[in-house]
Amino acid sequence: MSGHVGRRKRFSSLLEDYPSVSPPYCYRCPFNRAQPERADAREYRRCNWECIDKVEQRFAAQRTKGNPYAALIVEPLIQGAAGMIPQPQGWLNRVSQIARADGAHLIADEVMTGFGRTSFSTPSTLSSRRSTSLFACHEEQVQPDFLALAKGLTGGYLPMAATLTTQAVFDAFLGDYAEFKTFFHGHSYTGNQLGAAAALASLDILFTPASVRAREKLQKTLRTELQTLWTLPNVGDIRQVGLIVGVELVKDWRTRKPFKLSERAGIRVCEAMARRGVLTRPIGNVVVLMPPYCTTERQATQIVSVLRESVTEVFAMGKL
Ligand SMILES: *Cc1c(COP(=O)(O)O)cnc(C)c1O
Repeated sequence: MSGHVGRRKRFSSLLEDYPSVSPPYCYRCPFNRAQPERADAREYRRCNWECIDKVEQRFAAQRTKGNPYAALIVEPLIQGAAGMIPQPQGWLNRVSQIARADGAHLIADEVMTGFGRTSFSTPSTLSSRRSTSLFACHEEQVQPDFLALAKGLTGGYLPMAATLTTQAVFDAFLGDYAEFKTFFHGHSYTGNQLGAAAALASLDILFTPASVRAREKLQKTLRTELQTLWTLPNVGDIRQVGLIVGVELVKDWRTRKPFKLSERAGIRVCEAMARRGVLTRPIGNVVVLMPPYCTTERQATQIVSVLRESVTEVFAMGKL
């Protein structure tokens, strides 16, 4: 269901169409009237939440047809493969309410954000469960009907994914044999014991006070260090949600002018980072930083320094 054209193209004849709404991409939002500043675009945006109005209008139009939407699928707090696009505070809660008002299920894809990636991304005054919740949805007091999980479930040590749902949905698949309500979508290796053991061990560690403190500290160190990147004219936006960071490279921060993908700006910066010992990847012009939780403060500082040096090197006069 991705909006990523390149990823869908080869399967397009097999895929069904589905309605979508624009993500709240504040940095490049057509409704944001603010001039670029040296800060996360979510902080200085000037708009009237037109993105939410659009969602509301979509749902209303479908309701009017007498066929309200069945579900809303979201990546809570931040979209990954789309280019590390974070939602302004309150977006998730508000679109969830819109969907719920029509009886639609909320399907949250937390494959990237789950298991502590986004903890401490909201000020403590707004989030009551910050130290115990491991999910992005909970940062906005949203409880989804379906929750897709994978990457962080085992800390990345073994492949294991899970789809969680509510009792009500589970019960809908129960019945007499003859009713054939069974959900016939199992896999040979479902519930692999080794993967499950690794997941349980990882969860034990994630919940320890020392681990929670370490993640909070790492997140703060990154936040502080990232500020040093604003002096670079080719850094247009720095978007941090907990321990997920996207740094959008532009030709000139004053105009937000993007590089053509053929100029390989993101790739070149990541290659320069690799030469300095930091491995990461770009998504187009956005450099992604998703440090593992065992990253020390010293390493976090080093990661950002390496990014700074690499951006400086790649965009030095005449190079690009
Ligand atoms: C990585 C990722 C996926 C893919 O998950 P699989 O378990 O490999 O299918 C899906 N959604 C998001 C948000 C991801 O980051």
